[in-house]
Amino acid sequence: MVYWGGMTNFDSIDIKLLYAPRTVSDERRVVIDQRENSRFVSTLNRMGLRHIAQVHTHPGKVVDHSQADNELAAFRVPGLLSIVVPSYCQGGMQPMTMCGVHRYDRWGFIRLSEKYVQSYFEIFESGDFLLEDHRNGSEAGQ
Ligand SMILES: [Zn+2]
Repeated sequence: MVYWGGMTNFDSIDIKLLYAPRTVSDERRVVIDQRENSRFVSTLNRMGLRHIAQVHTHPGKVVDHSQADNELAAFRVPGLLSIVVPSYCQGGMQPMTMCGVHRYDRWGFIRLSEKYVQSYFEIFESGDFLLEDHRNGSEAGQ
């Protein structure tokens, strides 16, 4: 799981923070504790950013949200994106039409159509972001 923090502009979003939270994982699920999520929110606030997306992978080609993806999501903020990348991201995440792109609204996470994703989603890499990697239990990040 990686959280993206960024800022919205007129017609684009600049992702400025990639935050890999410390997780407790087994082969069927990933759990992130509340303390780790509050540390992420503190980092967003310190950097003046919004939570743009959560990104996780699935083992196969199925990129719909699982029931657990919907029920265990720690963040449920209108507009929050949840991107599911196939095949443990072994083929990357571009074009984004191969990913499942979901958006949270008051009914829950709704998967955006492939046509919509093709029309509105494209990633341009600038290299101008901070990576905070807490996956191995590091408190300091980086
Ligand atoms: Zn999932």
